[in-house]
Amino acid sequence: MENYKKIIEDIYAEVKNIEDIGTVANYIPELAFVDASNFGIHITNTNNASFGVGNFNKKFSIQSISKLLSLTLAYKLEGEKLWDRVDVEPSGNPFNSFLQLETDLGKPRNPFINSGAIVVCDVLLSHLKNPKEDFLEFCREISNNATLNYSKKVTQSEKDSGFRNNAICNFIKSFGNINNDVAPVIDFYFHICSLEMSCKELSEIFMFLANDEFSTSKGNKILSMSQAKRINAIMLTCGFYDESGEFAFRVGLPGKSGVGGGIIAIHPDKYCIAVWSPKLNEQSNSYKGMLFLEKFTTRTTSSIF
Ligand code: GLN
Repeated sequence: MENYKKIIEDIYAEVKNIEDIGTVANYIPELAFVDASNFGIHITNTNNASFGVGNFNKKFSIQSISKLLSLTLAYKLEGEKLWDRVDVEPSGNPFNSFLQLETDLGKPRNPFINSGAIVVCDVLLSHLKNPKEDFLEFCREISNNATLNYSKKVTQSEKDSGFRNNAICNFIKSFGNINNDVAPVIDFYFHICSLEMSCKELSEIFMFLANDEFSTSKGNKILSMSQAKRINAIMLTCGFYDESGEFAFRVGLPGKSGVGGGIIAIHPDKYCIAVWSPKLNEQSNSYKGMLFLEKFTTRTTSSIF
């Protein structure tokens, strides 16, 4: 960790001063209230050493990064049958696209686009007694952090503006790939998207994908090694929607972004790093977040390739 600190501080100072050509997401009105100048980084490694700069302790809306947590729980509960409901192919399309759903007969291309995450929510709804509470409890146990919570304001704002997500859920249900009623599936989906975490909390909660030895404070293992490997593979190929190739090309790590401007990236067996900068590029990924990570893996020569 010692040799990473100076590199992180240097790149942070450099990227902070670069003009940000991105824009804050405003299609969910509540997200537009964020202070766009926030910029934070936090890294945790497999020896439990950690380091952060900037606004790394400030909670923000993690949005689609939470699709990684819902997928993990669904995979744990449903096992390999999950892949009958959602595929593991890059979509090459925006995160909220309908395009392939029609020809793919309601089977979403992957669990990280909205359609896939909505099917994952349906799977969870069929397994969990109290989905919202049980999912939160799962996140709190992995992170050993009882402060994790949904943002009521963001959930409401997503509901008020959620025409497209409702339509996607209805459309998939018309093909028979949603078993529960649309309203509770979408309500659960919006809650999951509204989870709030800081960069520090993000880099801690996803250590189970970086560290084969990981178990929770209650002694529970989250996923088997082979399952964790598969989730990392889907992240590498699908974590950035139609920019997944670009992220692999420039950064070279499995990662996942959210429209709140957060990104997490995993170096299996080494570390988990989280970056937050709210302004997004045209593919809805954090502009400075990607820039930071590209410089970070280049200067530390720590990509998986
Ligand atoms: N809640 C957002 C949505 O459903 C999540 C999208 C994202 O972060 N890419 O549109």
